[in-house]
Amino acid sequence: MTGPLVEIRKLSHSFGGHRALDEVSLHVEPGSYTVLLGPSGSGKTTLLSIIGGFVHPDEGSVFIRGNDFTRTPPAQRPTATVFQDYALFPHLSVGNNVGFGLRMRGVARAKRVGRSREALAMVGLADSYHKMPHQLSGGQRQRVALARSLVVEPAVLLLDEPLGALDLKLRRQMQDELKALQKRVGTAFIHVTHDQEEAMALADHCIVMNDGRIEDQGPPERVYSRPASRFSATFMGESTLLSGKVLDLGTDEIRIDTRVGLLSLAGAGEPGFDVSLAIRPEHITLVPEPGSVSLGEAAVTDVVFQGSFKRVSAVSAKDPGVAFIAKLRSSQPVAVGDTVTLYASPAEMVLLSR
Ligand code: ATP
Repeated sequence: MTGPLVEIRKLSHSFGGHRALDEVSLHVEPGSYTVLLGPSGSGKTTLLSIIGGFVHPDEGSVFIRGNDFTRTPPAQRPTATVFQDYALFPHLSVGNNVGFGLRMRGVARAKRVGRSREALAMVGLADSYHKMPHQLSGGQRQRVALARSLVVEPAVLLLDEPLGALDLKLRRQMQDELKALQKRVGTAFIHVTHDQEEAMALADHCIVMNDGRIEDQGPPERVYSRPASRFSATFMGESTLLSGKVLDLGTDEIRIDTRVGLLSLAGAGEPGFDVSLAIRPEHITLVPEPGSVSLGEAAVTDVVFQGSFKRVSAVSAKDPGVAFIAKLRSSQPVAVGDTVTLYASPAEMVLLSR
């Protein structure tokens, strides 16, 4: 197949007077793991529901394999959805839950049983065919829900906060399983979450949503290291944000007058324009390193031990409105109330236009 598997063109949708989606366009490539990441109310579920056919958009279209499915009911789309609460039938055995979609499609019993068994084996539950859902743990029920959706061989699997009901440890374990499963079956997954760690662990393509719009999208490594907006820089991991004004341009450098002093870095911009610099916590240090510059003195306001590192918050002595977040080695002696000088390399700073 050439071209994207799913193509979303300028989707807009309102509930009452509230615009839940605002001209959202995106592509999903065959075999990819796409994660829709954003805070509560940013429109992730609405977008997923439109792709699955549970909501018809006010404007825009949904193409799957080049065909327009915008107004097609869910059962007639090449999609399947896994919901957060799994929605298993409590009175049906695990095997019959998995085979349900095949039964609806008129697949003969012997074939249905065979394919359901294969799907259960795929998620590591070959022994559970005759069990009832209440005899399974949360993680196992989640796997049954996955098997039930994959058995009908959808072109796209839609997952709405599929790990939301699990405790943190199981959640991290299921993430690894989901990623491995997706690569094994090769079906494109579109997965909604508000958990940025989950997004980074799973996504080939990460879409950051805010207020019904796409703020940023790309491979998670790129979204993390070079966020496209202030929102993306603070939602996909933490950042220190320094606002400033472009002073002048060199050949391939600009000088920015920030609230902690003048900084020069590679990039382009119009003199006089307001910009922001985003610095990731792991790029702020207490000792100068080759190429780094001073960000001035700061008072340490919080130190949280997090195992292999300490998360340190500090406020600029020059401008108390500037809050630094640094990730320092655990062995580094630093305590609340200390005055420290902070450093960062301009090469690690991300220039944002707003
Ligand atoms: P969450 O992570 O909390 O599920 P979300 O990013 O998935 O949030 P949506 O559920 O898509 O966000 O909601 C986007 C906006 O649309 C929200 O303001 C929400 O209140 C509103 N909304 C969603 N569904 C409906 C509905 N059926 N009726 C009215 N308003 C709705």
